[in-house]
Amino acid sequence: VAKHFLARAHADTLGAYLAIDDDVTLAQAREADARIANGDAAPLLGVPVAHKDIFVTKDFPSTAGSKMLAGYRSPFDATVVDKLAQAGMVSLGKLNCDEFAMGSSNENSAFGAVKNPWDTTRIPGGSSGGSAVAVAARLAPAATGTDTGGSIRQPASFCGITGIKPTYGRASRYGMIAFASSLDQAGPMARSAEDCALLLSAMCGPDPDRDSTSLDRPAEDFSRSLTTSIEGLRIGVPKEFFGAGLAADVRAAIDAALQQYVQLGARLVEISLPRTELSIPVYYIIAPAEASSNLSRFDGVKFGHRAQQYGDLVDMYKKTRAEGFGDEVKRRIMIGTYVLSHGYYDAYYLQAQKIRRMIADDFQQAFRQCDVIAGPAAPTTAWKLGARSDDPVANYLADIFTLPGSLAGLPGLCHPCGFGEGGLPVGLQLLGNYFDEARLLNAAHRFQ
Ligand code: GLN
Repeated sequence: VAKHFLARAHADTLGAYLAIDDDVTLAQAREADARIANGDAAPLLGVPVAHKDIFVTKDFPSTAGSKMLAGYRSPFDATVVDKLAQAGMVSLGKLNCDEFAMGSSNENSAFGAVKNPWDTTRIPGGSSGGSAVAVAARLAPAATGTDTGGSIRQPASFCGITGIKPTYGRASRYGMIAFASSLDQAGPMARSAEDCALLLSAMCGPDPDRDSTSLDRPAEDFSRSLTTSIEGLRIGVPKEFFGAGLAADVRAAIDAALQQYVQLGARLVEISLPRTELSIPVYYIIAPAEASSNLSRFDGVKFGHRAQQYGDLVDMYKKTRAEGFGDEVKRRIMIGTYVLSHGYYDAYYLQAQKIRRMIADDFQQAFRQCDVIAGPAAPTTAWKLGARSDDPVANYLADIFTLPGSLAGLPGLCHPCGFGEGGLPVGLQLLGNYFDEARLLNAAHRFQ
């Protein structure tokens, strides 16, 4: 199986893979074979997986899609990578992503854009674009992704695969190159909810010594209720997710999917998430603020790129960062330092934190009326490569449906639900209350 997928990975013409190493993969595959020969029947044993290049790995370079880390090798594996290896998964290599996971189209990668396999003139979504494409194009049976503001759910939607971001704190952030630490979460991207459930079960669990925000909840078997009936499930449909900005073809696919859920016994309940629009300014203050702090470690001293020519130490910092970071990363660092600076902190950052809490409260209000929330993951299907690459605000606005759940720290899943114009995939987003991943996976599995 590993050889089959290595051959597929080597033949990748979509730009999904950033690093492949046959020797590493085949050595892991032989270890899995040995475990199988010893009677080990762990469900993921011997199954290949490829990792978003935001997870550090000791056996492959780790770049976060940035020139700043070109060729960088970590001395250790991220906890999530390690846990999947312990479950017996065989690593196929590293997958392209937007630089430091900042983006919605994968065009912000320093190593080139990734193409959507459904239409190679289109973006795959982002920031976990390489992960979504690897799974959709069968270059890997499963992949890891990370979701700070939608980066698992939106590319899953654009590439016609399934992905889930768990409750914030379920998966350890140790070894995940940090973007916005209060939002970053790892999750699986795979062909079905069933596959995602197996992966998520292996990825989650407390990591108190290495991630202070990792939750003290034991690992769970998220496959336990996959086949349970969803008769009587109350699906909240937020009216704010169906406004004028939603493309007609996406709306039609979502409406049809909701009707399919009704056929399966679910009940639709109209709900309101009144601060949905505010999630954009709130997120684009908080995430850059945290990014500006997290990315200060890339100074040319500790790891990664260092400018060749410089005067004094400060000049070395400046030249290193000017050369190493791409435009979007620089933009976020500037926004972040601005909103955190004296005189603006109260007006921007503190206000954003307060509204973030109100957004989370709105969800708790909604979950009094429903068990899960359903809607689109993005307002449109995948757009053309280059169409929005010099319009950051257009990209930010398209994150409107994934940001609220991220700000609230809720689990969110996206599963394929139909096709829009031109045969492009449309995904349905399901949001659950804290720790309700198993319910989301159950609903998606029944749908599939
Ligand atoms: N598109 C969002 C951003 O650019 C979300 C990215 C993510 O979830 N990593 O920040």
